[in-house]
Amino acid sequence: MRQHGKLEYGGQAAPQRTCVGCRVRTAKTELLRLVRVEDHVVPDLRGRLPGRGASLHPSLSCLELAERRRAIPRAFRVPGPLDLSPVRAHLEGEPRNVM
Ligand SMILES: [Zn+2]
Repeated sequence: MRQHGKLEYGGQAAPQRTCVGCRVRTAKTELLRLVRVEDHVVPDLRGRLPGRGASLHPSLSCLELAERRRAIPRAFRVPGPLDLSPVRAHLEGEPRNVM
């Protein structure tokens, strides 16, 4: 696990996002940003991919919650199902071996 808790943003509170799985608001830096590429959802590991993003705790339980609630297509404002397997593979695997 990454060390955290010491980041400062010029005295301002860290930006927060809501996890699409468990709906808990968490510092953006603690969440995995997801972006949609056509019908796939991929983890934006560098925070650089363009487009609408969704935030998820980097945990399989939050991914499963999001899947069960169909929260991810809603977050991306698409009607159909999206392929979450790249995100699942990232969460199941060694992060440094992905991308
Ligand atoms: Zn969560």
